[in-house]
Amino acid sequence: MLVRFWGTRGSLPTPGRGTVRYGGNTPCVEVRLSHDHLMIFDAGTGIHRLGDTLTARGESVTAFIAISHPHWDHIQGFPFFKPAFISGNEFTLMGPQSKHATLRAVIASQMNKIYFPIQLSALKAKIRFLPLKEQTVPIFDASLSSLFVNHPAYALGYRLTVGGKSVVYISDNEPFDREVAKSIRNVEKHIVDRYLAERGDPNRRVVEFARGADILIHDTTYTPEEYVSHVGWGHSHYLFTLSLAEQAGVRRLVLFHHDPSHDDDKVDEILEKCRHEIKTRKHRFECVAAAEGMELEW
Ligand SMILES: [Zn+2]
Repeated sequence: MLVRFWGTRGSLPTPGRGTVRYGGNTPCVEVRLSHDHLMIFDAGTGIHRLGDTLTARGESVTAFIAISHPHWDHIQGFPFFKPAFISGNEFTLMGPQSKHATLRAVIASQMNKIYFPIQLSALKAKIRFLPLKEQTVPIFDASLSSLFVNHPAYALGYRLTVGGKSVVYISDNEPFDREVAKSIRNVEKHIVDRYLAERGDPNRRVVEFARGADILIHDTTYTPEEYVSHVGWGHSHYLFTLSLAEQAGVRRLVLFHHDPSHDDDKVDEILEKCRHEIKTRKHRFECVAAAEGMELEW
């Protein structure tokens, strides 16, 4: 089984000389369960090139696409996903939905006539929508569990398990602090209540969700210094991400959702600091920074 990164950048596509190594496309991760069993996490701009690669194979495609949440950087590639335009292909789009808009409406509205020339209803592939809360659903011979994470509105983290192995994908998540949650009210109340109901550290919810994962892909947008001025924006700094990985006892941590203002040298610097922390604190997991084109066996 293989995890392949097509988009690693948070918030905004950032092409240019400074981002060629880690990549400038927004989130999209391919998980190959077998030759024709395909799971895709998020439909950021990275899904465009994944789509071209799938189309070039000349085979029909059946895949599950799990959207973490519908902020632009996680859905904006979908209208450019060529396999969705081809008859015979089948996709199940999954993700959270609010009482204000169904999952289908969220995807359809970014393709309405004002924003895009081709409407969702004109796509030739068969597209099914499956709204998710916190639950477990079958994906081919694997299972996918979801957890609401601490990010404005509704956002899900995912855990894909097959044959006793797991990959956890949490693209956008902020350290949950009880005092901050009371003063910044941008996360849905009933999600905040679930975290507040946790005894001790509310972030244990995320730790338990990621428990023993072979691969944890987690938001590492900021340095601790940068985080101070971005509290409530829904993202993590690397010390928090390292602590989650250690507490959860994961095997491998992938730093993800790089800040658009961080060039490759800055990501190198963050990775180096993480590895230094891991060594100093005698953590036992490996740590890499997500890069476009990177493949991990699991
Ligand atoms: Zn994001």
